[in-house]
Amino acid sequence: MIFVFDLDDTICETDLYSEKYIKKFIKENNLPYKQVAKNVRFAESKFDWNMDAALKWYKKYGDDMMAEFPCKKNAVKFLKKIHKDGHKIIIATARANDWHTKPKEVTLKWLADNKIPYDDIYIGRIDKERICEEVNADFFVDDDVAVVEKVAHFFEATGKRKQAFLSTTAYNQDLSSPNGVVRVKDFADLENKVQSFLEVDLNK
Ligand SMILES: [Mg+2]
Repeated sequence: MIFVFDLDDTICETDLYSEKYIKKFIKENNLPYKQVAKNVRFAESKFDWNMDAALKWYKKYGDDMMAEFPCKKNAVKFLKKIHKDGHKIIIATARANDWHTKPKEVTLKWLADNKIPYDDIYIGRIDKERICEEVNADFFVDDDVAVVEKVAHFFEATGKRKQAFLSTTAYNQDLSSPNGVVRVKDFADLENKVQSFLEVDLNK
């Protein structure tokens, strides 16, 4: 089977971890900004600053904090297991040069440092349903509700048995899961749901 995985807030803890560096940036520069929201998409949206100030923060600390993002619990264990079982892992991340300074270098190093196995990687603003089409994906895992919904529609249109999963993370936990999308609460849950999906195939 071919799995396509998002990276930020799917395999690694991005938004929660980034808050630490926003607070550091604000403190170091003696800025007046404060946190005004907890569960919203993108760490920078949680603060009462404008996008120019947020971008300055990211250009200064983005690469440093990306190198430190912790993996979600059981992520590496699951990825190693499916890879060992012969499944293919494709990473698809929208990290790009508008916010990031060296998205490719930092991402490849982070994957190597965390010993994450993968067969191919797409880095940049590429439609994820096009990536799923190109690699003939069977499974797609992402925290972005709109992206997962688009891939689920694409999967449905192929007429083949494929599944899009919504990876639960802080900001999306109370959002509803679109039709055709299965929400997973963590990697143990994903493992169970993938297993059930594969068992239906075996029993045919
Ligand atoms: Mg993501």
